[in-house]
Amino acid sequence: MRVPIVAGNWKMNKNVAEAIAFVNQIKASLPPASQLETALAAPTLCLVPMIEAAEGSPLKLMAENCYYKDAGAYTGETSPRALYQAGIHHVILGHSERRTYFHETDELINKKVKAALKNGLCPIVCCDDTMGRRVAGKKVHWVVSRILADLHGLSDDEICHVTIAYEPSWAIGTGDSADPAQAAEGCYLIRQTIADMYGDNVANNVRILYGGSVTTVNINSLMAKQDIDGVLVGKDSLNPTTFLQLVNH
Ligand code: PEP
Repeated sequence: MRVPIVAGNWKMNKNVAEAIAFVNQIKASLPPASQLETALAAPTLCLVPMIEAAEGSPLKLMAENCYYKDAGAYTGETSPRALYQAGIHHVILGHSERRTYFHETDELINKKVKAALKNGLCPIVCCDDTMGRRVAGKKVHWVVSRILADLHGLSDDEICHVTIAYEPSWAIGTGDSADPAQAAEGCYLIRQTIADMYGDNVANNVRILYGGSVTTVNINSLMAKQDIDGVLVGKDSLNPTTFLQLVNH
């Protein structure tokens, strides 16, 4: 059974004091992790204080990125090993903002996915899509090739620790969500690709999220779709009341 997930992605928002206050406000109102997993990806600076604030609650804290080297002369990068040692067990990789603004390629993301797994981190790997490709009928090729490249070389055991997020670029931060059928189609394509790579059994256990302008209004219709196991939420994860409404949808 795939336990559903509601995950927030704060991006480069909130300082340490705001992050701690947020955790203190929500932590007593979260469902047990066996029923629904709740996660927040926060700026690196906030993660350790958030872990301390969240102690004893089911809230999972996630990094928004990491490098593929464990240590060394890589100024400004974050080590996956150091994240794990600090108590962080999840990391978002390949977000469309990383690909667009920081020119991250599938090759680099594949290295990061492998390094994260090697260090005990569970990655959420993001797969984007554009309206142009969708209109031109190219989405199938795009989604399949991106998943093949980002997950290249992972073992059956490793893939079981990976979550994938289908995040169409036109829907991220625009207020213009994919409709539930479009979102489910993207997630279905990803699951089929995993099935081709690893077989049905593995594909049926890998969790696939939808992300892109998820709100308290559309979350129910999205999560009702069979292939959508959860949501990755940017803007509407920034307010504690709204985030709790999403979690308790
Ligand atoms: C995101 O950044 O992953 C995202 C889905 O953002 P938003 O919910 O604001 O569209």
